[in-house]
Formats: sequence, C-alpha cells, structure tokens
Amino acid sequence: MYFITHPDCLLHDVGAWHPERPARLSHLSDYLIASQRMTLLTRVDAPAATRDQLLRVHSAAYLTRLERLATSATTDAPAVIDSDTMVTPHTLQAARRAAGAVRLAVDLVFGGGEPRGAPLRPDRAFCAVRPPGHHALRSGAMGFCFYNNVAVGAAHAAAHHDARRIAIVDFDVHHGNGTEDFVRGIPDSPLLFISAFQHPFYPAVPEGPTPPGIVHVPLPAGTDGPTFRSAVADQILPPLADYRPDLLFISAGFDGHAADPYADWHLHEDDFAFITEALVAATTCPIVSVLEGGYDLAALDRSCAAHIDALL
Ligand SMILES: [Zn+2]
Repeated sequence: MYFITHPDCLLHDVGAWHPERPARLSHLSDYLIASQRMTLLTRVDAPAATRDQLLRVHSAAYLTRLERLATSATTDAPAVIDSDTMVTPHTLQAARRAAGAVRLAVDLVFGGGEPRGAPLRPDRAFCAVRPPGHHALRSGAMGFCFYNNVAVGAAHAAAHHDARRIAIVDFDVHHGNGTEDFVRGIPDSPLLFISAFQHPFYPAVPEGPTPPGIVHVPLPAGTDGPTFRSAVADQILPPLADYRPDLLFISAGFDGHAADPYADWHLHEDDFAFITEALVAATTCPIVSVLEGGYDLAALDRSCAAHIDALL
C-alpha cells in the first residue's frame, strides 16, 4: 500500500491555536514510524496538482481568487475567508500537494505511475495530507478546505482511467458538503457518494430530496460505536455493494473519535477499523483513502493506524 504525503503539506500554518495545524501530520508520521507501520508502507512524495487538474473540479474564477488572496496575505496576517478558513502565502503550495497526492494515488492503484517495487496491496493508497478537502465547493473555500482533494482524484480517474463507477464514502463527523456539491454538479453523474455525519451540525445539509447517487447517513450527537456500526451495516454497505464500484475513495476523517474536542460522536479506533474492514469486504476494486479531519493528535494517530492496518 502506498503512503503518499509531502513536507509542503506542513506549510499551511495559520497559528498554533488553529485545530487544523501542521502537527497533525508530523505527529502521525512519527507515530507510524515508532509503531513500525511505516516499514509496511511504500512512502511516495506527492506531486503538486496542476491548474488543469484543479479546473476539473473548481471554477477558474475561484482558483484565481484564491491565488490573489495568497499573494495579498502575509505570514503574520493571513487572508481571512471565514472564521475557520484562512490563506497564508504558503497555503496553496500545501493544498496543491494535497490534491496532487490523490491524483497520484489514483494512477498508482491502477498500476500506473513510476515502478515502485512490490508493495503490499499495490491497489490501495492512503494520502496523509492537509489541508483537508471535503468542504471545498466548486467555487468556495470553507471549513479548513481549499481544494477538494477527493474530487480532484475522482475527476482524474474518470478522465484518465476510464473509471465509470466511482464511489466515495465519507465518514468524517462533518458532512462532506463540498464533495456533494461536486457530485451534484456533474450532469447525470454516475458517481455514488455516501456521507455519514453528525446531524444537526456543521455544515448545513442541502434541503429537499436527495438525488440518485447521494446517500446521507445522519447520526445524532452522542453516537457511539454500536450505533455507528449498525448504520454502517444497514445504510452504507448495501448501496455500496449494489453499486459495484471500479474505484473507491474514502474521505477518512477521524473527528468522530470520543477524544476529539470539536464534535460529539463517541467513536474509538476499533470503530474506524470496523468501517474500514467493512468497506474492504464490500468491494473488490482499488481503494484510495484520503485524510480529512481529526484534531486530537493522539486519537488521530491511533485511529489512522487502525484504518491503515485494516487497509493492509
Ligand atoms: Zn470533520
């Protein structure tokens, strides 16, 4: 399995007070090395996504607006998009690596890219990247997200690998509204997007009936392991297995952990192992997993490790 990351992902830093901070990745990397897991993974440096790759998902006007914000910002005075989301002079360098990691992951799990030896499970990849992506809209940054990393990967898979049946399962505690915006924006989209999320909570979920190809799994504050596992078995696995994807993306957010300070689910690392094992068992296709949220560093380390173990 490939482990794709890049030191540039540490460059987006709006201050130590912000939960989405560089230590999330450096702490995780140290933990995977200390626990001997890194020896099982094939570590690859992420390339930067190109503007053309980003344009498959985001509008040109939005990309230009972000670039102008980054130019106007200084390290001491980031450009403020909202109270959570700020651009520094280095933000887009990090964000391009995050999106580029997912693009490369797609090529690698389909057997492309440069030869990398013979890793365990060469049809799977985990992208340890930040800033995260699943709140990023076609024309808007929000919720710590700038480019929709998973969407960039999905659009690349459709364009370059003839992947028609692409499933995205998002188990971050927050609804993946940016990814839903991407899927809704594709006419007659063949994609399947399943999002489990705390509800009601941030962000607002679109009103009205859910279109075909989008499955909402809203779960209340206080959701614990047994409730979560039942929802996985009853609401996530059946539509996923019926769909028979040729590529599965996982938006792997770990902020549903009981120790996470910014949400109210009470999951533990074995629950993340459970959903990962269930997704693996329900599919036979390549899998690209991409880090989204998770803000308690120790819980993030253990949860990611459980997720990686299950993918291996
Ligand atoms: Zn989240």
